[in-house]
Amino acid sequence: MHIKSAEFLMSNSDVAKCPKDRLPEYAFIGRSNVGKSSLINMLMQRKSLAKTSGRPGKTQLINHFIINKNWYLVDLPGYGYARVSKTSKKIFQKFITNYFEKREQMVLAFVLIDCRLEPQPIDLEFMEWMGESGIPFNIIFTKADKLKPKALERNVAAYTEKMLEAWEEMPPFFITSASDATGRDEVLNYINQLNES
Ligand code: GDP
Repeated sequence: MHIKSAEFLMSNSDVAKCPKDRLPEYAFIGRSNVGKSSLINMLMQRKSLAKTSGRPGKTQLINHFIINKNWYLVDLPGYGYARVSKTSKKIFQKFITNYFEKREQMVLAFVLIDCRLEPQPIDLEFMEWMGESGIPFNIIFTKADKLKPKALERNVAAYTEKMLEAWEEMPPFFITSASDATGRDEVLNYINQLNES
């Protein structure tokens, strides 16, 4: 997919205020610091469309970007950041769950996982909740450039094994790097296919 245009549209914390047209949308979510902003900027070939920040947990809003004027990319808040107070954590988790439960035009969520880490309980729990709630998602492994190919393969295999303890099959996944654009075509072509189907 060629990205002809990618523009920020709106930020809010209320799913009822999200765009009302029925364009298909794709949500990106993961733990703070997983590399979500970097990935979005890499996919869109824009330097700072999504705000990368040294302070994880900053973007606690639903951010809509309109891409090629025919689909939305949605940047959701990072979850599970310890420095966020318990109260605000609860609040943003509620609006994240509201978003997924109410947003009918959401075609697919991409759950981002740092390929260097062992499976983290918070990610596994989040995906379990997605599964129980019938919300379709794929996995995107981030920061692939940080591992040698063998180590990457080993980690993905270990992740798959862990997922298979709870799931009948591993959800479709992508391996990406914001540094060298690994996985860019694969993710965009996948979205393109879904938009056309
Ligand atoms: P976010 O909090 O999930 O939006 O994460 P950011 O995109 O701000 O990235 C967090 C940190 O990881 C930053 O220091 C990025 O430069 C770094 N990072 C993100 N993606 C990659 C990647 O693909 N490769 C490498 N080497 N570093 C990355």
